Amino acid sequence: DGRKLAAQLKQQLKQEVLHLRGSTGDVPRIINLMVGQDPAAQSYARSQMKTADEVGVKYELLNLPENTKQKELLQKIDQLNRDSSVNGVIIYKPVPSQIDYQLAAGSISASKDLEGINALNLGKMILGEAAMIPCTPAAVMEHIKSTGVLLRGKEAVVVGRSEIVGKPVSLLLLKEHATVTICHSATAKLEEQIKRADILVAAVGKPSFIKGAWIKPGAIVVDVGINQVGDKIVGDVEFDQACQKAGYITPVPGGVGPVTAVMLMNNAVTAYKAQWAQRESAPIKK
Ligand code: NDP
Repeated sequence: DGRKLAAQLKQQLKQEVLHLRGSTGDVPRIINLMVGQDPAAQSYARSQMKTADEVGVKYELLNLPENTKQKELLQKIDQLNRDSSVNGVIIYKPVPSQIDYQLAAGSISASKDLEGINALNLGKMILGEAAMIPCTPAAVMEHIKSTGVLLRGKEAVVVGRSEIVGKPVSLLLLKEHATVTICHSATAKLEEQIKRADILVAAVGKPSFIKGAWIKPGAIVVDVGINQVGDKIVGDVEFDQACQKAGYITPVPGGVGPVTAVMLMNNAVTAYKAQWAQRESAPIKK
């Protein structure tokens, strides 16, 4: 239950932010850069703002005009990178066609990259040193952790190898000593791979693509997929059938999504603490 897990995590973060206010006199402040007026992004921003409010993080939406030039956006990011009162920056997708999203997101300084997607933060994941973990992979790991099952030696199968979900999730599972198989569109005998999985992470983007009959009895199934079918949102896993076999399974909606939003705030707290410690040349007192 992603909503229940998100509520628990928000409670913990709220306590941490309160502690930060007591020991540093301030709280994390994050800026959401949005170019244009995409209605879905506006609605997502409102829900993020609510999450920020619940945990006590300052959240500001900076709406730039639809015709903002790449150079102007990069200048804005540079200004935010230099502003020590800003602890984290995110850029909303979609961006208008004149903007190169990768270039813009990659120019957010690594210490303020709350989505953990710039090359330095992704590279640090390979070294096992990342502080800023991409939010959706972090949410997947929180769901798995909430089962209490130890991952050491378990067979983990990740379906999907995108930079924002599949690849980082695989590294995080590997860090916990699971044996990880990464599947993609050229994977042969996908069904056989999935049938071996003690832990299955589905991040494909195809409705009910993974059949319930393929799930190993007792497996942990985390469904990252968000697919619109008619007026419904469904995951990548055939949920009702998979429920008969899985030990644990996340629903869609109400699984990974709500926890992802909290992970952004978790990264805001991480960024704030690291920046404060660097400025003051001392860690924050426990
Ligand atoms: P991408 O489209 O970037 O990646 C999809 C992956 O699925 C690719 O690696 C692709 O393989 C693989 N794939 C496609 N077809 C097959 C197939 N037949 N067999 C095996 N693998 C296949 O998607 P994202 O990773 O960005 O997102 C995945 C899903 O997660 C989407 O539904 C998205 O909406 C959702 N999502 C949810 C989030 C949340 O917070 N809950 C956040 C981000 C995404 P190949 O690389 O070979 O093309």
